[in-house]
Amino acid sequence: MDKRPAENEIYPLAITGYAGDGAGVARLDGMVVFVQGGIRGEVCEVKLTKVGRSAIWGRAVRPISPSPARQTPDCPLYGRCGGCAYRHMTYTEELEAKRAKVEDALRRIGGTELAVPVILGAPQPERYRNKVQFPVSAGPRIGFYQARSHRVIDAPDCLLQPLPAARLRAAAADWMRRYHISAYDERTGKGLVRHVYVRTNRAGQSLFCLLVNGQAVPHEADLVCALRAAEPGLAGVVLGINEKKNNVILGDAYRTLWGEDALTDTLCGLEFRLSVPSFYQVNADQAEVLYGRALELAGLTGRETVLDLYCGIGTISLCMARRAGRVYGVEVIPQAVEDARANAARNGVSNAEFFCADAGQAARRLAAEGVRPDVVCVDPPRKGLAPDVVETVAGMAPRRVVYVSCDPGTLARDVARFAALGYVAREAVAVDLFPRTAHVETVVLLSRT
Ligand code: SAH
Repeated sequence: MDKRPAENEIYPLAITGYAGDGAGVARLDGMVVFVQGGIRGEVCEVKLTKVGRSAIWGRAVRPISPSPARQTPDCPLYGRCGGCAYRHMTYTEELEAKRAKVEDALRRIGGTELAVPVILGAPQPERYRNKVQFPVSAGPRIGFYQARSHRVIDAPDCLLQPLPAARLRAAAADWMRRYHISAYDERTGKGLVRHVYVRTNRAGQSLFCLLVNGQAVPHEADLVCALRAAEPGLAGVVLGINEKKNNVILGDAYRTLWGEDALTDTLCGLEFRLSVPSFYQVNADQAEVLYGRALELAGLTGRETVLDLYCGIGTISLCMARRAGRVYGVEVIPQAVEDARANAARNGVSNAEFFCADAGQAARRLAAEGVRPDVVCVDPPRKGLAPDVVETVAGMAPRRVVYVSCDPGTLARDVARFAALGYVAREAVAVDLFPRTAHVETVVLLSRT
């Protein structure tokens, strides 16, 4: 009998495509091999790292026939840090991998014959993130978690973050060293500084938050002073308090140490107030592209009733309100609902109403009250829609459902569930909000057969 492939063996393998996480895909003895660092079209020497029952994992140790899309990773932490997945290839190749991933999911899992002809790539694939949460551990090491672990890698700079984030991180690290400020230890629950958080807006302002296991920090004035000296665009310094023994990043309470407690950002011509815990798409330029497509697919004429489920701080709801008769937004986090209402008022939008509730429950209640939306927009977290939400939405019989998703797998699963209820996927557009990482957004238009 032939011997089965084993760990640490090296095989020359042809890479034929990509898996969802950016790994190359090859075959060996009839089994699929996920090849970290492999590029489509290459034959690579692959060292097997794990041999499972039905799949094998490996690492490309040498491309025998390198692809023209191969490039030397431009970050010294690439491969160790869990953030990026595509830095060994050009951005153009990454976009094709992501486009194919969305199309593949919609066909294989979604059972559609839909093509995804375009992926809208970012004109600016570096330094696009408007929020960073650096974990802090003893040293201090301030940076990112190593892939699949909670070990912190010190990261003085990151190509996904804007420069103010690097400058403020460095100032916080200096301050911790100078005053021997302790870092929080997840295992013992002791130590002070948990996370360094920086949010920036498109106008170049930034908001700094130190998340701590305590009610105060020593040498507070020196921290503020150091941060202000490091970053001219700094608008505020906030202390976030989390004294629980958990790995939740955000605080239970916030106290402003200096300046503002929130930033304002402009998106699609609307102004949004962003406090530390507010959810906001991390790439504002590309979010504008995404919401623009969602709006187009909604096909609004000015008279429609729109239901926006999972509305966050109301970004999509308020964009749609300008082109609709009436908009109902639903969101489960009370603070986000308050933000959504305040954002509506700030922008003079009077035809949008927001409810704090679970999406499915709110949709059922609105349906019972006789609300008949022409368009339902959903933008759920990665786990997608619960089956009862799909049923309730279909039961409301909207003309169109616009599904915005950050996970092609759950999107495709829900597209299949909608199809069983008479809603067919007509169009899909992928939008890259997260260049260089494994993530991609998709917007799909569904309508009744
Ligand atoms: N559409 C918004 C937010 C999308 S993120 C934007 O683009 O900015 C998904 C949102 O769904 C989050 O704000 C989250 O708090 C909310 N959410 C999660 N589970 C929910 C549920 N069961 N019901 C309603 N909202 C929920």
